[in-house]
Amino acid sequence: MPTKKIAIYRTDLLPHRMNPGKETKVRALLAAWRKAAVAEAAFQWRLVFTEGRPNKRHKAKLSEQAIGAAYQQMVRWQVVGQIESWLSNRSNEFRDLVNGSSLDPAVKHQIHFINRWLAWFDPKPLKMKDGAEIPEEVRRLARTIFRRLLNRHRKPNFSRASMVIDQRCIALAPASRASTHPLWARLSTLDKGRRIEVPLATYDHFERRQGKRALSVQVMEREGQIVFGVMTDVAEDFAASREAYRPRCEALALDIGLKTLFATNQGDLLGRGWLERLQQIDRKLTKLAAYRQAHGLKVRSPRYRRYVEGLRGFVRSEVGRVLNRLVETHAPAEIVIERIAFRNQALTRRLNRLLTLIGKREIARKLQDLNERFGITTTEVPAAYSSQEDSACGYVDTRNRPRQEAFCCRWCGHKRHADVNAARNLLARRSGKTTDLRRPKQAILVELVRRFNERFTRPKGGPADPRLSNPYFRQWKAQVTLTEPC
Ligand SMILES: [Zn+2]
Repeated sequence: MPTKKIAIYRTDLLPHRMNPGKETKVRALLAAWRKAAVAEAAFQWRLVFTEGRPNKRHKAKLSEQAIGAAYQQMVRWQVVGQIESWLSNRSNEFRDLVNGSSLDPAVKHQIHFINRWLAWFDPKPLKMKDGAEIPEEVRRLARTIFRRLLNRHRKPNFSRASMVIDQRCIALAPASRASTHPLWARLSTLDKGRRIEVPLATYDHFERRQGKRALSVQVMEREGQIVFGVMTDVAEDFAASREAYRPRCEALALDIGLKTLFATNQGDLLGRGWLERLQQIDRKLTKLAAYRQAHGLKVRSPRYRRYVEGLRGFVRSEVGRVLNRLVETHAPAEIVIERIAFRNQALTRRLNRLLTLIGKREIARKLQDLNERFGITTTEVPAAYSSQEDSACGYVDTRNRPRQEAFCCRWCGHKRHADVNAARNLLARRSGKTTDLRRPKQAILVELVRRFNERFTRPKGGPADPRLSNPYFRQWKAQVTLTEPC
């Protein structure tokens, strides 16, 4: 079956080897870009609320001489693109919110229509397919719901944006003569008509990268350093690797933890010892935050951001390394994963929050990569009670887990590493009633208890039955002791 060619970009970050004079020029450009982006974003947000949406062609009345017309246009495209993608995420949440509401079906239908066209703030009258105009009160309701979503999320922040520079202002060229630097970037700066030449450092992984190099180049700040992001379209290469991929197992379930990053239903325990590393980062961050607070300073500072970037880099490389390894050993067709929420009492609230945010994004990124590269799909299942349920018999009890890593079933005596047991439960939840992510935790417990009692209707005999002293089974106990007192 012929597939439509869609570009898949991968970005390699290359350090530069330019002298301080050139670096000053690049940093001045970056500062001007960010300033322009913040102003452009304010203008585009006004358009969202007055005209209904951002507009790539709508030029803000800004002082373009500061950054030049070409750069100003690149800034606008970047800002509009990010606002559009942010709005589209809100639109998805809007849809879920409305679906879960008790609104009248006809109103729901109209509200979905408004949302589908991202027309919450569009001042023009809106007609449904049958020609009926959506009444003002419904449109007001849509705006109210949407405002509530707006308030729940931080808008994209452009004050620390990266530059995405197109071929009008940057060009990559291999060294023309013998040179220690194999790749150069020729870049326009704020000095009109003059380009600077930036030598870039390459590395093996980049040189082996197959694909078509994009004409745009990203210039960004990472941990305080300027780096150049070179993008390559790897779509063809990935199509070939998807074609060649031969799954050896149907599905592999992953339990995500902090002591071991990933445990699988096959018994793998990978990324051990990363809690220690996280605790190190945690201590550094806590110390810095305490110092800054004690001196009446804002917690966020360049140094703080560098630490957070360091955390992100660590999570990214660990997640990538461990997932690559799992794909190598098991070659699954599908990966089953719990909804991600890192929480560990050995870490501060600050680090738990950062880690959840970063971990979610990095794991999703890697899973997307595996999908594009090998066609491996991902199924998300709810994790509720998966650490207390025995994967062998289905008995759920807080006492099944007497120690952190050991799982020992109070019903059947089955023993296993706790995280591996949890991963096996996740695998079982691929199909069945417990897979619905929208179900509240309590409903999942009720289902687990019901299923178990269906298999074992009568008490084992006296106090030997752990259900009799398990609060999860209180209702069942009331029923059985009523009919046959022991
Ligand atoms: Zn058991």
